[in-house]
Amino acid sequence: GCPLLLHYLLYRKAAAPTSGSFLLLGPSGAGKTALFTLLESKSSRLEKSTKPTHISQTSSSTTINLSPTIPIASNRYRSINDPSLSEASKIPVTYHLRDTPGHGKLRELQGISQLRAMLHPKKSKSGMRGVIFVVDAASLSEQNEALRDAASYLHDVLLILQKRALNNGKPSSKIAAEVAVLVAANKQDLFTALPPGSVRDKLELEIDRIRKSRGKGLMDSSVNPGGSDEEDILGGDDGHGMFSFKSLAGEVGVQVDVIGGAVKSDKEADVGAGVRRWEEWLGMCL
Ligand code: GDP
Repeated sequence: GCPLLLHYLLYRKAAAPTSGSFLLLGPSGAGKTALFTLLESKSSRLEKSTKPTHISQTSSSTTINLSPTIPIASNRYRSINDPSLSEASKIPVTYHLRDTPGHGKLRELQGISQLRAMLHPKKSKSGMRGVIFVVDAASLSEQNEALRDAASYLHDVLLILQKRALNNGKPSSKIAAEVAVLVAANKQDLFTALPPGSVRDKLELEIDRIRKSRGKGLMDSSVNPGGSDEEDILGGDDGHGMFSFKSLAGEVGVQVDVIGGAVKSDKEADVGAGVRRWEEWLGMCL
C-alpha cells in the first residue's frame, strides 16, 4: 500500500551507516569505565582489520561498531523484501560513545557540562541520540545515600533534557524526543542487585521526593524577590501526581527506559552477553 511505499522511499537511504552520539553518565562505581572498555573491545574484535587497537589513556571518546546482529531503528520500516537489506546489514553501523574522565563529584560535574556541550547544536559533530545513565543496582537496595546520589544526578540530567525539549517549543515532537535516556541497571550478576523494575520504582520515588523538597525550597525563597523562578522537571505533576518516567515521556517527550544488565559476568564465555539489551536500546536510537 501507499504507506509502505512511502516508508520505503523515506528509509531507502538508511543503507548508509547510521551514526549518532551517546554519553555515559552515572554515579561513581556504577560501572561506566567497565562498560566503555567492554563495548570498545567488542567493537575492535568486530573489525577484522590488522591495525592494532588504539587504546588512548587520555581520550574517553571512541567510535564503536554496533554488532551486526543488533537491529537498528531505521531498519524497522524496511520491507523484508527490500533487496538492499542484506547488503545494508553488511555495512557496520557505528556510533560515538563518550565517557567522562575523573572521579566522584568532579566526574559528575564534568558529565553535566559534557551533556550541555553535546546538546549544543553547533558543537556536536554527530547527532546526540542518548544518555546511558549507569547505576549499580546492588547499591540501591536500601533507601540510602547511593540512591539519593543516583536520583539527584539523574534528576539534574532530566532537567537539562527537559529544558532543551521544551525550548524547541514542540514538546513530544521528533526533535524533543531525539535524546533518550537509558538507565542501565548494572551488576545484575550479583544476587543483591535489584531487578530493573524496582530500580525504576526507587528512582521515581526518590526523584519525586527531590522535586518536592526543591519545590518547597523555591517557595521559601520566593519571600525575597529576585530568587529563582526555575522550574523543576515535569512528569505526573497534576497537583498531587507522583513523578514517573512514563508521564515525563508523555508531557515532555523525554523517554527513559530502565533495563537490567551486567558488564561483568562470572562465565568467560558470556562476556558481553550481559549488555546485549543495552546494545539493542542503542540500536533503536540509531
Ligand atoms: P565507574 O566509576 O562508573 O567508571 O565504575 P567502574 O567501571 O570503575 O566500576 C566500578 C567497579 O564495579 C569495578 O570494580 C568493576 O569491576 C565493577 N563492576 C562493573 N560492572 C560490574 C558488573 O556488571 N558486575 C559486577 N559484579 N561488578 C561490576
